[in-house]
Amino acid sequence: MRQKIVAGNWKMNKNLVETKALISDLKAQANTSGARVIITPSFVNLALAVSETEGSGIEVAAQNMSQHDSGAYTGEVSAAMLKSAGVNVVILGHSERRAYYGETDALLVEKVNKALAEGMEVIFCFGEELEERKANKHFDVVASQISNALFHLEASAFKNVILAYEPVWAIGTGETASSDQAQEMHAFIRKTLADKYNADLASSVSVLYGGSCKPSNAEEIFSKEDVDGGLIGGASLKAVDFFGVINANK
Ligand code: PEP
Repeated sequence: MRQKIVAGNWKMNKNLVETKALISDLKAQANTSGARVIITPSFVNLALAVSETEGSGIEVAAQNMSQHDSGAYTGEVSAAMLKSAGVNVVILGHSERRAYYGETDALLVEKVNKALAEGMEVIFCFGEELEERKANKHFDVVASQISNALFHLEASAFKNVILAYEPVWAIGTGETASSDQAQEMHAFIRKTLADKYNADLASSVSVLYGGSCKPSNAEEIFSKEDVDGGLIGGASLKAVDFFGVINANK
């Protein structure tokens, strides 16, 4: 179901004490937008975050997940482990995972399949690099990232998929896509879904924007028809900034 969502990607930030402190600060803020609020502490702090956020309306998600069930995969974390810690949402396909850890579309198919089979919700990230946008290939890149990793799914599976368009050139750079660029791509994403599946599915999927979103630009971006909210990196690490973004999602 299409929803307003603001998810904070904490990346490799916040130790245990800092995680607790940030959650306490987040709980002191008021959500005046009605948007669904999700935070993603590191694996090691997920269980703590689940208990600290209990009853607050703030959900806890993971930043990644193994495609395997269990076994000799040193350093990996399974869906079952996440679920046993109370985590039922996972970010997959973030550009940093693709760029630094070699995550391919083929691997993401396996991860998406595993998460959905385990009843988890997936925040699936994709987006073009600067060179690709300059070469006017951004629509092709996005269409192939989505189709390669998701178009084997039955239409019904999309009820557990949230899409996050994150142009790589806007992540952590301070450079944001303009609201018109975001809207143009989000409309294209829905058209791509409608062409493959149907218009109802295309209009029922939540599509988030990510890339240097902050309180000063969030309202303009979120005001666009096809933008349902954001995946927020840097601005999710301070409660006041994060809620500035959340409360811009009217
Ligand atoms: C992200 O990493 O998903 C992200 C959007 O980061 P930032 O907001 O810092 O650009």
